[in-house]
Amino acid sequence: MKLLNEMELNFKAISINEGFARSCVAAFCVQANPSLDEITDIKTAVSEAVTNCVVHAYPSIPGNVCIKVKLYENSVDIEVIDEGIGIEDFEKAREPFFTTKADEERSGMGFAVMESFMDNLELKNNANKGLIVKMQKFFRQQKIAVGENC
Ligand code: ATP
Ligand code: MG
Repeated sequence: MKLLNEMELNFKAISINEGFARSCVAAFCVQANPSLDEITDIKTAVSEAVTNCVVHAYPSIPGNVCIKVKLYENSVDIEVIDEGIGIEDFEKAREPFFTTKADEERSGMGFAVMESFMDNLELKNNANKGLIVKMQKFFRQQKIAVGENC
């Protein structure tokens, strides 16, 4: 598993940054030559994780979101990290339709979406405080080297 590149992104947990973060991670992953479907899956998953930081992590003052990306030849590891209120029961939080914000028309499907669009999803406590959402996606398509004729 050859590490091609890595990057870190830090921004405020406000909704306008959700689109920025998703596009930024997708643009970074393009260098590993994933398929369009794979890029779309990554964008969707990052979008759900960042939205969770905006909606749930910081009930009063928006804090920081950090995204760490490690890009390999055939896969990517993405960590979305906040320093907010965290989650006590990971299993419960991951259940489809579980939400603590039903009153705000949340459907409780964010983690289920991340799980189905990515190949691995792991929730961990952040050492400082808050949550780490770790996701992995494999690039399955046969790669054609740039400039190579078929
Ligand atoms: P939806 O994503 O469908 O809008 P949702 O955000 O409530 O609804 P999930 O994304 O699956 O659903 O999250 C489930 C629950 O986990 C949330 O309702 C919230 O209680 C908790 N949660 C998720 N992310 C965080 C976070 N970063 N910090 C604290 N709590 C979180
Ligand atoms: Mg959500």
